[in-house]
Amino acid sequence: MMGIAITSLHVPIIKGSGGVLMLTESEINTGAAATPCVRCSACVSACPMGLLPLEIVARVRSNDLAAAQELGLKDCISCGTCAFVCSSGIPLVQYLNHAKGELAANERDAKKQAELRALAEARSERLQREARAKAEAAAQRKAERERARAAAKAAAAAKKAEQTLA
Ligand code: SF4
Ligand code: SF4
Repeated sequence: MMGIAITSLHVPIIKGSGGVLMLTESEINTGAAATPCVRCSACVSACPMGLLPLEIVARVRSNDLAAAQELGLKDCISCGTCAFVCSSGIPLVQYLNHAKGELAANERDAKKQAELRALAEARSERLQREARAKAEAAAQRKAERERARAAAKAAAAAKKAEQTLA
């Protein structure tokens, strides 16, 4: 039940086709609006991963992805069994898939932000290193200039002393 609904028989079976599931009209939700959850727990009994689909979906619907994750959202294998058995016609697996997509997008964003932060820090360190090296080179040049000036002054003083003696 993890596949996608095919509405035409003119679809070939290819190497990647894992199986074909033929369901009668009475076995599928043909678009009837979902009714409120009656807490029958059929979805819980059917979940092969031992999850609580109704509880996870309740967190997803209230936009609390962290709580949904704590309840095992990421362990859901999107088999669709919970949605299939739900007598209220609640599209549980669609909610779960949507939430997993949101989580993945959030994680991608967080990773991107971390990478950008690391790049900015590396750039800032490089600029600081370059500024330090520049300042050291300038200080060295200044010290050399002062040494040369002092040597020239000393030479001039020595020459003057020689001339005075002569
Ligand atoms: S199967 Fe449907 S109606 Fe029953 S508890 Fe789960 S979500 Fe609620
Ligand atoms: S779709 Fe996810 S929550 Fe629903 S029965 Fe399958 S594993 Fe369990």
